[in-house]
Amino acid sequence: MNMVDDGQNKGQPGTKQHIMEMKKESYVHDVYINKKILDEIEARCKNNKYEIIGMLVGNAYKYKGKEYVIITGHLFSEQIEKHPIFTQVIDGAVGEMSIKRDTEFPESIITGWWHSHPNLGVFLSSVDIKTMEMFNRGFHVALVVDPVRNERAFFKIDDEKHYHYVSYAVLKTKK
Ligand SMILES: [Zn+2]
Repeated sequence: MNMVDDGQNKGQPGTKQHIMEMKKESYVHDVYINKKILDEIEARCKNNKYEIIGMLVGNAYKYKGKEYVIITGHLFSEQIEKHPIFTQVIDGAVGEMSIKRDTEFPESIITGWWHSHPNLGVFLSSVDIKTMEMFNRGFHVALVVDPVRNERAFFKIDDEKHYHYVSYAVLKTKK
């Protein structure tokens, strides 16, 4: 599957060209994510026709006053896949995943959340913006994946509750 590459051929933050340009300026992205983790999330989204949700796990850092995250893990909720009515299960899912984070990633923190938008495109809906209230630290990000259109984006919201694309880089891990 070439989903990762597909997503990088667009003229949006995160494209290879964009990353090269920003590296020249020693730009710090908002998000760095391990390719393996992104692949796992996107495969999971692709295999489910409903909206599914999970959490992003890693650590937060600061460089010259700018906060950024490195995402090294993810969690998903079993509940969502059985219950396609997305909004009713978010609260329970977040609680369930917080417990998993404690046991599976004791050295890491929650750096945000991810969910799928099957054939809807990538954006944050009003429900998603509401969900961001649970992810209210400056470094928290939302990853939205549209597995049908092969699109993805990372978002943050501002004080006025508007969402913005944030830049990201995919880190290839050597094995
Ligand atoms: Zn959404």
